[in-house]
Amino acid sequence: MKNFDKDSLCSSCNSVVQSHDGILVGQKSGEYDYLCTKCYNESIAEYLGINFEHISFEPITVSDTDGVEHTFHFSIRLLPNMVIIRAVEMKEGIQDGYEFHVNDDVEEDLFYVFKKLFEKIKRAMKQKHIRCDNSMKYEITDEGVVRGYITSSLEDERNLPLLVIDGKNVTWDEFGKMLTVYEGFNFKMEIFDKMEEE
Ligand SMILES: [Zn+2]
Repeated sequence: MKNFDKDSLCSSCNSVVQSHDGILVGQKSGEYDYLCTKCYNESIAEYLGINFEHISFEPITVSDTDGVEHTFHFSIRLLPNMVIIRAVEMKEGIQDGYEFHVNDDVEEDLFYVFKKLFEKIKRAMKQKHIRCDNSMKYEITDEGVVRGYITSSLEDERNLPLLVIDGKNVTWDEFGKMLTVYEGFNFKMEIFDKMEEE
């Protein structure tokens, strides 16, 4: 199978597709089409028999509480039962850092859905869950609350999760060390869908 890691061309419209914005679609023949989200969404809209006008949202840069800038790229994905807008942080052309999703009804105004996503990003930029201690190791901030998402690392052969907290990759070992100062404390862990927010 072709390598789709780098920016490839859309099988349908031939435009260059950034790696975070492409969708592999299996064909009956066993071959794969690589589609930009515009072509993909239009094919789903046709299947659903709905009017859907794809919008390309330009990247937006937002600063966090430390004044560090984060640039988000957006992609819209139409599914039979919902529309999802995803924001991924990109650094030098590679997805790295924060990732956010919102969903809504397939026929909802995309600008309204986008606004919900942008509000979610702005709220997250105001939150800070970890900071560096004197020896430049991560520690949990005074609120004692950590939010983030769970992903995996290709580099870790032990099959342990990789966490993304405040847009920073935190290994399972680093996270464990962050907890050692809380020996004797209780904790509460809650896991929820990426569309939800807590
Ligand atoms: Zn296309």
